[in-house]
Amino acid sequence: MPELPEVETIARQLKDLVVGRRVGGFTSLWHRLTEPLSARDFEKRLIGRQITGVSRRGKFVVLELDEGEALIVSLRMTGQLLFRDDPTVEDRFVRAVVRFEDGTLLNFADTRKFGRMAIVDRADLVDRTHERRRVREPLHRALGIEPLSRRFTARYLTDLLRRRARAAIKPLLLDQRAIAGVGNIYAIEALWRAKIHPLRQAGSLRPAEIARLHEAIRWVLRKGIRFGGASRRDYVDARGNEGRMQREFNVYGRAGEPCPRCGREIVRTVVAGRGTFHCPRCQRAPSS
Ligand SMILES: [Zn+2]
Repeated sequence: MPELPEVETIARQLKDLVVGRRVGGFTSLWHRLTEPLSARDFEKRLIGRQITGVSRRGKFVVLELDEGEALIVSLRMTGQLLFRDDPTVEDRFVRAVVRFEDGTLLNFADTRKFGRMAIVDRADLVDRTHERRRVREPLHRALGIEPLSRRFTARYLTDLLRRRARAAIKPLLLDQRAIAGVGNIYAIEALWRAKIHPLRQAGSLRPAEIARLHEAIRWVLRKGIRFGGASRRDYVDARGNEGRMQREFNVYGRAGEPCPRCGREIVRTVVAGRGTFHCPRCQRAPSS
């Protein structure tokens, strides 16, 4: 599943590829993609609109439109946004096509069909984590803090862990309404780097551990971006190329291999339903 570094990679590429282009048509081949709008209504709202910018919010690709709106794309498990300047190139599992007036295309391919698109107010994507939590709002309006923003300080993380003191640290890192963009892989790598067991209670972390975790989250995300994201099964960038971050993992997917830091065997467990990897020596289990 694409996380912050993968989505950031796609957004940065699309910025060079689609900004300034005007939408000439939209086709959807999967009715749930644009729900609650029909593909026809979706096209009506997109046609003639110009892409004025491309950015990322959490794990959403944000195609900024004129008049203060945005087309947001959630890639979920297997979604791919593929820019094609040759419309005869055929991508597999295409669920939707944004056609630009100049003949270029943006294909949305998605084997598992969990991906979604929506047209939203850009103002709803602004980081409003200083306001009251909005539990029942749609996710794009209630996303947590951007971990690479300047507002995400060790102090901010300390306060967050205090507010959610009884939560296990790993599921908390995955909560998009707390911190936006961190997913399973980067949470696992950050916890290993910070030497924190995935089941530790958020409230039990000492100041030095919180400082390490804060540094580790930013470090793994930045490294992921630098390596163009991680490709395991489906992730490719906007040009259809694989990322290189998968070769850089220290613990993710490495059960049975020696910990790069201490040599102890990495183990796989399941935490809150998600496959998790850690080093039992570097990341001590809570005594409870
Ligand atoms: Zn170790």
